[in-house]
Amino acid sequence: MKGLYVHIPFCEHICFYCDFCKRVPKNQQMIDDYLSTLKNEYSRVKNNIFDTIYIGGGTPSMLSPKQLEYLLGIFLDQKTKEFTIEVNPESYTHEKGLIFKKYGVNRVSLGVQTFNEQVLHKLNRKHNNQQVFDTVKSLKTAGITNVSVDLIFALPGQSIDAVKEDLDMLNLLDITHLSYYSLILEKNTTFYNLYKRNLYKPLDIDIEADMFEFILDYLPKLGFKQYEVSNFSKSEDTKSLHNSLYWSLEPYEAIGAGAHGFDGKNRYYHTTNITEYITNSNITIEAQTEFMMYQDYLIFGLRKTDGISLIDVNKRFNRNPLVDFPKLNAFIADAYMEVKNDYLRFTKKGLFVSNQILGEFI
Ligand code: SF4
Repeated sequence: MKGLYVHIPFCEHICFYCDFCKRVPKNQQMIDDYLSTLKNEYSRVKNNIFDTIYIGGGTPSMLSPKQLEYLLGIFLDQKTKEFTIEVNPESYTHEKGLIFKKYGVNRVSLGVQTFNEQVLHKLNRKHNNQQVFDTVKSLKTAGITNVSVDLIFALPGQSIDAVKEDLDMLNLLDITHLSYYSLILEKNTTFYNLYKRNLYKPLDIDIEADMFEFILDYLPKLGFKQYEVSNFSKSEDTKSLHNSLYWSLEPYEAIGAGAHGFDGKNRYYHTTNITEYITNSNITIEAQTEFMMYQDYLIFGLRKTDGISLIDVNKRFNRNPLVDFPKLNAFIADAYMEVKNDYLRFTKKGLFVSNQILGEFI
């Protein structure tokens, strides 16, 4: 399996929590120039056969219909199993949904974040709930039935009741997949600047843990099965193939400003300066040692609820994590982790604190 990630770094507005590579474009010419550079850069990787393509951002759906046709037309030589594009409800139109379908897009990742419109406003998001429902309906009519929604929890001032309200609203949407991340206070964001001036208070970490516990209990009642720390699918067929490549350390190419790729041996990245990318799309290679890849394999693999096969680790790296990282045995003894049928994985109790545990043993 091999994937292609394509980054569109343009947004109509900047959300207060976002530290992705993005900017409000100077004008339409800037977007056209960027797309032209992307097309040129694609020639670097086009000899590959890609099983998955993921167009992320930024906000790919803010491109005009003509720009979308140009962008999606770049990949007409590929016959992918999964072709995803990220969409924000306020910039989606039915015309764009029909263009997605025409060019083989078969999965949409929809940025909803919360159904509480007052909180959306505080995050500087610009859509409303009606637009979310209209977008899903229109995508279905256009023939795109595999729709994933992004939500965020641990929002400032949020309660568990408010999380339940979000999930009950989500349940009214006919979707296949959910990505549900907690809000992280990142540097270089509006929230971080407010935090430094004591004008923003992140949610208490214990409340966040309770929320996550609630989410893990509630989502199965709505038909979602967790398969990764933050990802839930209604069926086997609708798990994200593209993200599964990241979690299994499979290779993926990446084009676009700020995009990171992995060729199976080394990682590489592009400049995050969008103007610079337009004139020079060169990549910078970051050599990886075998041990670095081994660590990544564990860090990403343990995010999957299935965990990692110790036999596979041995075949791939000729190593045993339980020997290399003795702290793992303590986490197993404390029932945060377990080894079952050769698979090392987090228990439910361990999933709540998986990030801290991964940070501690590797
Ligand atoms: S969260 Fe998405 S829409 Fe908001 S600024 Fe970041 S990339 Fe743009």
